[in-house]
Amino acid sequence: IAVQEKHLWHWYMQGEDEQHMRQLAILQHLKDAVAEQQLNLVLQPKVDCVSGRAVGAEALLRWHHPVLGHVRPDEFIPLAEQSGEIGRLTRWVIVEAFSVLNKAENAGIDMKLSVNLSTVDLLSDTLPKLLSDYVDQFSANPSSLMLEITESAVMQDPENAIERLQQLKQRGFMVSIDDYGTGESSLAQLKRLPVDELKIDRSFVQHLPNDERDQIIVRSTIQLARELGLKTVAEGVEDDASWQLLQSMACAELQGYYFSKPLPIEEFFAWYQSH
Ligand code: C2E
Ligand code: CA
Ligand code: CA
Ligand code: CA
Repeated sequence: IAVQEKHLWHWYMQGEDEQHMRQLAILQHLKDAVAEQQLNLVLQPKVDCVSGRAVGAEALLRWHHPVLGHVRPDEFIPLAEQSGEIGRLTRWVIVEAFSVLNKAENAGIDMKLSVNLSTVDLLSDTLPKLLSDYVDQFSANPSSLMLEITESAVMQDPENAIERLQQLKQRGFMVSIDDYGTGESSLAQLKRLPVDELKIDRSFVQHLPNDERDQIIVRSTIQLARELGLKTVAEGVEDDASWQLLQSMACAELQGYYFSKPLPIEEFFAWYQSH
């Protein structure tokens, strides 16, 4: 089968619409990714902004296909959302996440784990019960799981999103607004969102030391969040100068290559215990 697929793939690549053929191939193979055990979670540490010590992690999905190779989540997640495959992927991620939390508990590590949910997941009416069922199955603490939902996902259908977020909060899960600042929510809407955390998009963080406008935006976002009772996390921290600035702005937590890239699970636990 592998040889045949390689031929197919060469044929795709020679096709006129290379991009389109690749998308078709991704869609076709994505259906089997879970059953064929081609998925992996990597964990990117989150650290406390003052001490730099590990406090938790974000789980990020990785897919390696024997013929397509490594396919980036930026590429396959949107396709999975369009094709309806996303539910299967999200369930896999959630089960893995609970098993990571289980391992952490057994190792005496008290951490929070963030997982990403897509728009489709958020609006699915089975999500809250599904999550609670896993909590029972793993005898987990729901407040150890932080659900990251992008600002733009919330804004696609704010009324329904707010209702769903309330249900998730009632069941004890933590909620974070991801990519904050890119999704055009108004302050009035932010006030109504039942969430625990704001994650400032890395586009505002990446050039922080050299961009005064970004500094103004990030500083005022952190202040606003504090006044609304929300914790702030800055993502995409790549150097010490950004860390210093974010510390002076009283950001709560940081994530980025400066501290660590996303790590395979075992490596993450080793990193965590030495930080
Ligand atoms: P995201 O949720 O905003 O995740 C952060 C992305 O930034 C990750 O890319 C991470 O590897 C990268 N990153 C972390 N630190 C730095 C840094 O210092 N500099 C730079 N330049 N990048 C950094 P990744 O893993 O490729 O994921 C891309 C996107 O794919 C994620 O963006 C998220 O939207 C989506 N995604 C990943 N895993 C899942 C998943 O399990 N479910 C869903 N629905 N989406 C996922
Ligand atoms: Ca995220
Ligand atoms: Ca993000
Ligand atoms: Ca993003």
